[in-house]
Amino acid sequence: MTDLPRRRFLKLSAIATWQALAGAACASRPPSAEASGPRERRVAPASALTLFLCGDVMTGRGIDQALPHPSAPGIHERHLRSAADYVRLAEAANGPIQRPLGFSDLWGAAREEWRRVEPDVRIVNLETSVTTSEDWQPKGINYRMHPANVACLTVAGIDCCALANNHVLDWGPAGLLETLDTLRAAKLATAGAGRDAAQARAPAILELPGKGRVIVFSFGTTSSGIPSDWAATAERPGVDLLPDLSEATVRSVARRVREVKRVGDVVVASIHWGANWGYRIPPEQRSFAHGLVDTAGVDVVHGHSSHHAKGIEVRRGRPILYGCGDFISDYEGLSGNDEYRDDLVLMYFPSLDPGSGRLVRFRLTPLRMRRFQLVRPSQKEFGWLSDTLARECAKLGTSVERVDDDALELRWA
Ligand SMILES: [Zn+2]
Repeated sequence: MTDLPRRRFLKLSAIATWQALAGAACASRPPSAEASGPRERRVAPASALTLFLCGDVMTGRGIDQALPHPSAPGIHERHLRSAADYVRLAEAANGPIQRPLGFSDLWGAAREEWRRVEPDVRIVNLETSVTTSEDWQPKGINYRMHPANVACLTVAGIDCCALANNHVLDWGPAGLLETLDTLRAAKLATAGAGRDAAQARAPAILELPGKGRVIVFSFGTTSSGIPSDWAATAERPGVDLLPDLSEATVRSVARRVREVKRVGDVVVASIHWGANWGYRIPPEQRSFAHGLVDTAGVDVVHGHSSHHAKGIEVRRGRPILYGCGDFISDYEGLSGNDEYRDDLVLMYFPSLDPGSGRLVRFRLTPLRMRRFQLVRPSQKEFGWLSDTLARECAKLGTSVERVDDDALELRWA
């Protein structure tokens, strides 16, 4: 227990459920320490292009409060008025949190796994604005991280942040513009949001010496809770919001891919879509993902918005991740959806043949968020996540197999 007065703690505990709090929708790198760490055997052929992908990286609110440069703590939720309450809730659930939390400590066991796998590029959905703006939008939940904490992304060697999500404009257009400026100054590529529609729609282009280019599009959808008026226009900052998941939208994405894709490029479509909870994959998501692979030239569909991992499909040698789950979050003190174990997260490492873009290997590493750090899960937790993933993947024609004692590999026909 912390210094939180007991009465206050009880009050917090009583309302700290997803249902009570949400009401709102949540509906070339610096070499860093990883490169110089102990070398273990590679997990994919050296010629392969290995991506690191994950779901929501929510370094705002409670996480931001624990980092070295916390924002002003005021928030505007129905039951909570201080972002620091999320630190206290997490501590009440799992024990004391180191404060300040070091930028690299946040990533915990993920760093060891990055050293082992050596991904060529690291792409995340950054589920927060990075700003000191006070222009909070009346949507119930507002995530922000102080710009001085952006080092938590650079120390992790993140290359590209997908931004077309339902939190990047939580602190208004000024908050988005500061987010873009902060990430650019930190040499992080972005896609999916911009000061106008042209910038929001422009893909991030990542050059990988000897392995071609990775081109990242980031698309948002209203099904993930993005307000429709967050769409960027010629005059208004915003996100790249897809109008729907129709065949016409597939054709529109196909035209955009054709404008930029060259032979040897790998195209990632990062999409924030669907509800936070549940394993069901809506038929329109599936047909849209198939269209992206079949006709739009997309090589990797990187879907997110679900708070837990969903099934993975491989179509024509192209991986489709329907929901990557959370990765970094301050949710560990919340209850109400415990059966989904959103604290159990996955690192996704698809390895592609750079010539053809086809998937050659796909490693998945389970971790757990605990006391605001990523740690290795227990054997029981590993088994639960593995079984859950196997069950959901079987519906999509894939399976998982345990490798290296602490990781999984996807198998596909
Ligand atoms: Zn979201």
